[in-house]
Amino acid sequence: MSVLITNIGELVTNRPEPGGPGGREGGFAAVARAALVIDEGRVAWTGPASRAPAADQAVDAGGRAVLPGFVDSHAHLVFAGERGAEFAARMAGQPYRAGGIRSTVAATRAASDDQLRANLRKLAAEMLAQGITTFECKSGYGLTVADEARSVALAAEVTPEVTYLGAHVVPAEYEADPAGYVDLVCGPMLEACAPRARWVDVFCERGAFGRDEAAAVLAAGQGAGLRARVHANQLGPGPGVQLAVQAGAASADHCTHLDDADVAALAASDTVATLLPGVEFSTRQPYPDARRLIDAGATVALATDCNPGSCFTSSMALCIALAVREMHMTTQEAVWAATAGGARALRRDDVGHLGVGARADLVMLEAPSHAYLAYRPGVPLVAGFWLAGEGVIGGEQVTGLQE
Ligand SMILES: [Zn+2]
Repeated sequence: MSVLITNIGELVTNRPEPGGPGGREGGFAAVARAALVIDEGRVAWTGPASRAPAADQAVDAGGRAVLPGFVDSHAHLVFAGERGAEFAARMAGQPYRAGGIRSTVAATRAASDDQLRANLRKLAAEMLAQGITTFECKSGYGLTVADEARSVALAAEVTPEVTYLGAHVVPAEYEADPAGYVDLVCGPMLEACAPRARWVDVFCERGAFGRDEAAAVLAAGQGAGLRARVHANQLGPGPGVQLAVQAGAASADHCTHLDDADVAALAASDTVATLLPGVEFSTRQPYPDARRLIDAGATVALATDCNPGSCFTSSMALCIALAVREMHMTTQEAVWAATAGGARALRRDDVGHLGVGARADLVMLEAPSHAYLAYRPGVPLVAGFWLAGEGVIGGEQVTGLQE
């Protein structure tokens, strides 16, 4: 059953080839007054609406914009509890510290599987309703072998992009023996988590894990068949970005405090610089310098970092608006980074763009162009989405001819 979506005001396809906004890995591309054909869950054709082929069904987009579904390459969705009071205190002047993670760890350990699953599914549905059609999900609030293993197992129920983050912080019971905790993360905990995970991640930061500890965690994970990603240079300058590049990580995430050598290392590597502006917004910190990274030739992604502590948003549209308004990215660069950039950060070539053969993961905006994502900040603009070709518009399954 093929589906023609026609009368699209602006169809953002993105280019897979190098050059243009978004860095050397790709670029924003769009077609005005466009159409797209979906067949067997894949994109079968894109181009001007006037030249669209026939299909079994037709959907009239009514001049609205259609984009690749957002690809959120950084989220922490397996947790219990909430930290609204901590946020309020921070806004009243308390600084953000990595140790706040421990309060979520306590709540997560105390929660039942069903409680964790319900919260996780609620957040995943919230993301999808806002146009995120691919998301990564980390463990990291269990920090025991059993609690990390169940976090990874729960994440695997909702996404293939599961990340083992046993090295999130050193839990309180290992305060006096951080080396012992790293041994646990690299040993029995990894063994329990690796079968259901695709990625290994480490929070390389003062107050979390130092360079050598982080390198050990990545090497152990890679030895178990996982691919690396790193929380790097969020709270201050540090070795995280250089470590990520040296380890061949798919992504160095945060990249808020970079020196020239960090920028040069990212630009010369395949490691994506994943920027998480919702964190700076929610912790009232200076934003990362996206222009410096893009101008140097680094590949930049935008992600939500949805988590209960430093950034509790599931809105990629907010991240795009912040990237444009506060980080001087163009609307095109920001949309590219939130789609194709996220796909690069997850080493996926089937999502983040709408080339022929891509997964038919689309988002339709209640707006004529992608620019509205930043132009109308805070306004819910997602009119509908398609997930592997299955469409939902206005909360209703797309079953036939739509006006
Ligand atoms: Zn994170």
